[in-house]
Amino acid sequence: MSSTPAPVPLCDINARYQFLKPQIDAAVLRVIASGQAILGPEVAAFEKEAAAFCGSEFAVGCGSGSDALVLALHALDIGPGDEVIIPPFTFFATAGAVCRVGATPVFADIDPLTFNIDPEQLDAKITPRTKAVIPVHLYGQCCDMDAIWEIAEDHQLFVVEDAAQSFGSDYKGQRCGTLGAVAAMSFYPTKNLGAFGDAGLVTTNSPDIDKKLRALRVHGSEVKYYHKHIGYNMRLDAVHAAALRVQLPHVANWLNGRREAAQRYDRLIEETNLHGFMRRPTVKPDRLHTFNQYVVRVPGTHRDALVKHMKDNAVGVEVYYPLCLHEQECFKGLGYWTGDFPTSEEAAGTVMALPMFPEITETQQRRVVDVCAAYLAQAVRKVA
Ligand SMILES: *Cc1c(COP(=O)(O)O)cnc(C)c1O
Repeated sequence: MSSTPAPVPLCDINARYQFLKPQIDAAVLRVIASGQAILGPEVAAFEKEAAAFCGSEFAVGCGSGSDALVLALHALDIGPGDEVIIPPFTFFATAGAVCRVGATPVFADIDPLTFNIDPEQLDAKITPRTKAVIPVHLYGQCCDMDAIWEIAEDHQLFVVEDAAQSFGSDYKGQRCGTLGAVAAMSFYPTKNLGAFGDAGLVTTNSPDIDKKLRALRVHGSEVKYYHKHIGYNMRLDAVHAAALRVQLPHVANWLNGRREAAQRYDRLIEETNLHGFMRRPTVKPDRLHTFNQYVVRVPGTHRDALVKHMKDNAVGVEVYYPLCLHEQECFKGLGYWTGDFPTSEEAAGTVMALPMFPEITETQQRRVVDVCAAYLAQAVRKVA
C-alpha cells in the first residue's frame, strides 16, 4: 500500500465532464452534424436561457469574457479621450478592454476585506473625462453596489460589471448581470460555468445596447455586408453554446457545492488552528458569495514559500494575482508607481487560492489544510 496521499488539483474540470458526458457528447455532435457552427439556434437558445438565469432582459453570447468587456464598453460608446475607473487588483482583461476601445484605465484601490473596489476611493478619481466605473466582483463576491450606484448617479457614470468570476452571485437578492448598464461574463473553463474552450456573454436590460452588442460582434452589421459600426469577430461558437446549455441547469447546484466547500474550509482551518496564520475570506452579509475562488491571506514573508510547499506536496494552489495592474510593464506609460495603491499591493503579496471546485471532498480539503499546517509547524521550528 502506498502512503503517498492523492494529489488535490486546483480545479477539476474533468469531474464536471464525466458527470454530464453523454449529454455533452450528444449536444456537441448534434451541432457538428447540423452544419450550423457559428451563432444559429443553439446560441440563440443559450442566450435566452442564460438571460433567464441572470434575470436580465437580454444576453449576447461572444467569444470570451475579454470580448464581453470590449463589446460592453464599445456598446456604451466609450472610446478615445474617455476614462474608466477600475481596481488595480483584478485579472488583466479588465484593463486590457478599456485600452482596446481606446479609453484610459484609471485605478482606484480596493477594500482589504473583500478585495473589491473601495467606493470611498472613487470620488477622488473622477474627472470630467470619466465615463464609467467597472466593479469587478472578484472571486465570486459582488462589490458594494449601493455605494457605487450612488456615486455613478451623482457623476452620470455607466456601471459596467466585470462578472467574469461571479456568474450566479447575488447582491441583496439581485443577480449580478443586472447590477449595471451592462455586464460581462466569462465561461473560461475554470469559471462558475465553464465552457470546453473560450466563451463569454454580455447581459443588459436595454434593447438599444442589446442591438448594438449583436451588431458589434459581427463586424458592426445589422444587415449582412452593410456595416453600421466598425465591430469585431467576437461570436460565440455553436458547439460551446450547446455544451453550455447542458450545464446551465446544474449551475445552481454547483454553486451550492462551492459554498459548502467554502464553509468546510472555514471550519477545517479553525479546527487545525490555522486561522491566526491564514486569514479566511470575508463574506458580506447581504451577498451570495459563489466562491469561484477560495482565497486566503498569509503573511507576506511566508506566502511564496507556502505556495512552493503546497505544490511540492501535490496540492494545486495559485496566486490571483501576483502583480497589480498599475505595476505592469505595459502600463508604465500611465504614470503610476509602486506604493500608489497600498491595499492592492498588499493583497498581491499575501493572497493564495486553495483548490476549489463543486465536487471537492472533505478528505481532499482536509489534505489541503494538513499540508498548510505542516508548513507552519516547520516554519515555526525554523524560527525557534
Ligand atoms: C476570466 C476573467 C476575465 C476574462 O475572461 P476570459 O473569458 O478569460 O477572456 C475578465 N475579468 C476577470 C475578473 C476574469 O477573472
